[in-house]
Amino acid sequence: MAFDYDLFVIGGGSGGVRAARIAAAEGGAKVGLAEEYRMGGTCVIRGCVPKKLMVFASSYPGAVAEARAYGWDVQLGAFDWAMFRTKLEAELTRLETAYRNNLLKAGVVIHDTRATLEDAHTVRLATGERFTAKHILIATGARPFVPEVEGMDLALTSNDMFKLDALPKRLLVVGGGYIASEFACIFNGLGVEVTQYYRGAQILRGFDDEARGHVADAMQARGIAIHCGTEVMAMERTADGICVRSTHGHDRTFDAVLYATGRVPNTEGLGLEDVGVTLGRNGQVVVDDYSQTSVPSIFAVGDVTDRINLTPVAIREGHAFADTMFNARPTMADHALVPSAVFTQPELGSVGLTEEAAREREPIEVYSAAFRPMKTLFAGQEDRVLMKLIVSQQTRKVLGCHIVAPEAGEMIQLAAVAIKMGATKEDFDRTVAVHPSMAEELVTMRQPVRKA
Ligand code: NDP
Repeated sequence: MAFDYDLFVIGGGSGGVRAARIAAAEGGAKVGLAEEYRMGGTCVIRGCVPKKLMVFASSYPGAVAEARAYGWDVQLGAFDWAMFRTKLEAELTRLETAYRNNLLKAGVVIHDTRATLEDAHTVRLATGERFTAKHILIATGARPFVPEVEGMDLALTSNDMFKLDALPKRLLVVGGGYIASEFACIFNGLGVEVTQYYRGAQILRGFDDEARGHVADAMQARGIAIHCGTEVMAMERTADGICVRSTHGHDRTFDAVLYATGRVPNTEGLGLEDVGVTLGRNGQVVVDDYSQTSVPSIFAVGDVTDRINLTPVAIREGHAFADTMFNARPTMADHALVPSAVFTQPELGSVGLTEEAAREREPIEVYSAAFRPMKTLFAGQEDRVLMKLIVSQQTRKVLGCHIVAPEAGEMIQLAAVAIKMGATKEDFDRTVAVHPSMAEELVTMRQPVRKA
């Protein structure tokens, strides 16, 4: 049977775009791609990229204060949110165009509309057109999840934060994960009065406990009011703002409320179940190691599969799929030892096992150092950084590394190379320190602080 396409990709985000490009440019496949919104997906349009630019924007008041402590006669002026937002939008448009052009250069046919599945080899576009494809790739990503709470229509999600008309004076952030904690720091840096409500005992669940405590302390020291064990019960618009009733018993009023309470896979209304694709409990597409679904011609990559929800992982999954199906190179996406960074201020960089997870598996040694780094110490600030290694007593391999520091995201990338290669504590030890730096502590910690 002749198909219109060798591959039809639904979703123009990180995973879909990479798969389409590799299949077309390297595999010689005839590829179609449908995107209903803007090319680039969550990462480029409403996630990593605009978020990181906002992190940069929010860091300047701290830098100015530090500069003064170093002898510079500088004053912090006002922040022009409207100017920044316009420039941000222009940058996203530039990136969106670059993504589109790269696809076109690779020979991919772009359909700027929504696509749904009709059968195992057919997609139907919102325009009414139908295309057949030998293989279909679902790369539709995820969207913010908001729980059912009275007055929820008053809340914002991360999608809204890049488009605000004006900065709020008082912001409540609900949630304790990556997005909640990053936005709490960004808006605090921009001069907004930030309160964070988290239902659990400590923010950033899943990360190393010591590192979580370190980040939370630093956030509080910068003026973010973190309330753990706190859930919102209801929200109501009043003359003064949004009145929030919560389980800690106080009614508080804010100008804006951001819900960052997780994300759900975009699988609704795609026709997946009708064609026999198995979905998991959270609505995610269930796939095997080669990203193949229960329907052999249909594959899925990225957040819609809810494996490790990070852009570089989606890109790897998309690339592995294209290599497997169109380059005759069967490749499984590697989900082991994936490093990541939470872009709080200070940042948290992590790779491998937390102390808590490692000690459940085998006897370990913990090497950890918390200290005041030279740069901010000189400026008279209390900031502390944390460098931590988890080491297997038996193999001596470094099982995990956790860094809380400015630029921890940059440092963890390199530590991850060593750890991915199987470096032992002794390999770290015989590496000469770069002095003076913060990261040198990773190769100079001699004695374990504890064994477990
Ligand atoms: P997370 O899963 O990281 O955090 C969700 C938070 O919301 C948790 O604190 C969770 O609490 C809380 N929560 C969930 N349901 C409710 C509820 N009903 N009421 C109150 N609180 C609730 O999700 P995010 O949305 O922050 O981020 C989604 C994913 O995006 C991340 O997991 C990450 O993979 C990716 N991401 C990565 C970034 C990076 O690499 N820097 C940046 C941003 C996102 P609890 O802990 O109790 O479950």
